[in-house]
Amino acid sequence: MELLKGNFPIEKFKTIETPFYYYDESLLRQTLEIIKSESTKYGYKVHYAVKANANADILRIIASYGLGADCVSGNEVQAAIEAGFPASDIVFAGVGKTDKEINLALSHGIFCFNAESLPELEVINELAEKKGVTANIALRINPNVDAHTHHYITTGLNENKFGFNLEDVEDVMDVVIKAKNLNLIGVHFHIGSQITDLSSYEDLCVKINDLQDQLENKGIILPNVNIGGGLGINYEHPNHFPIADFETYFRLFNKNLHLREGQTLHCEPGRSVVAQCGSLVTRVTYVKIGTTKKFAIVDAGMTDLIRPALYEAYHRIENITSDEPGDTYDVVGPICESSDVFQKDVRLNKVRRGDLLVLRSAGAYGEIMASRYNLRELPKAIIL
Ligand SMILES: *Cc1c(COP(=O)(O)O)cnc(C)c1O
Repeated sequence: MELLKGNFPIEKFKTIETPFYYYDESLLRQTLEIIKSESTKYGYKVHYAVKANANADILRIIASYGLGADCVSGNEVQAAIEAGFPASDIVFAGVGKTDKEINLALSHGIFCFNAESLPELEVINELAEKKGVTANIALRINPNVDAHTHHYITTGLNENKFGFNLEDVEDVMDVVIKAKNLNLIGVHFHIGSQITDLSSYEDLCVKINDLQDQLENKGIILPNVNIGGGLGINYEHPNHFPIADFETYFRLFNKNLHLREGQTLHCEPGRSVVAQCGSLVTRVTYVKIGTTKKFAIVDAGMTDLIRPALYEAYHRIENITSDEPGDTYDVVGPICESSDVFQKDVRLNKVRRGDLLVLRSAGAYGEIMASRYNLRELPKAIIL
């Protein structure tokens, strides 16, 4: 039986040197339309997490839908501004912001620093004073919520390097409120990535509600609550679930999070915006027949898409050249590392040398994480 595959412009692909990333512009736009309509229902502000994919064309399209940007480096702040995100919609997170990066963000007048430590707050205050400006600050708080996701991408538990612990928040707020060149405007949370068990977000809402009650008792009501990113996508069935369930996601916060008068909810989705619109397209270099296995050796490797090697991540693989009944293969790259395996024992339509395979759901944390290890070329990208 022929196996299901997505819709791809195969004739066009034949003219392009592999491996390359292919982005489906129409799917990206449909996703952005839904994000826009579901978030504006409740007046929520969405900041796209640039680190998921900073391809300049992708950034420009996302910016054109009026989203803000969530950045984790000075270069991301710069790229966001060049792509058309207004500085007044940019938030900047990260545990190790350097003086240079802080200065860059201050010069652009970004919306807010999501600050993660006391020494960082001290430096932002000093640098802002030197420039004669005031820096908006949201405190990144570690809510100790289990995101039920891979341990490498869980960030909201206590033993983490990110953010302030809940019990220290009031003391830290006192420091920020007293600092001359800091303006405390909100609280920020980010509990992890590829979250598919949405009860984690309900747990987060409970923690935020408790904290807000506690702060209100001290007379503190901050204008912004930022719940971070992390909404998961369906890697198993990209053909059936091409767009994450933003309707349920935003409704969950509307139902569970008790916002005060005048408060704005912000969020920072990355993966769920761009993952499904991207595929890594690769050509089969050899089919190697082993004693117990068949290997499809492809021209893409972990240097082009590192998620399987780094996080044991699954990407659906399809042979888009062949319609012949399937066989089982290990799909491997050419890199001199035994972890350079995209997937073992995959059912694919019969594979021959020269066939094009696609690794699906690769629009997030794909192209941007590519490296030149083995002196390979960086993968090209096309958007159609
Ligand atoms: C990585 C990150 C995000 C985006 O996470 P996704 O899982 O891609 O949605 C959002 N906010 C912060 C602070 C991050 O570090």
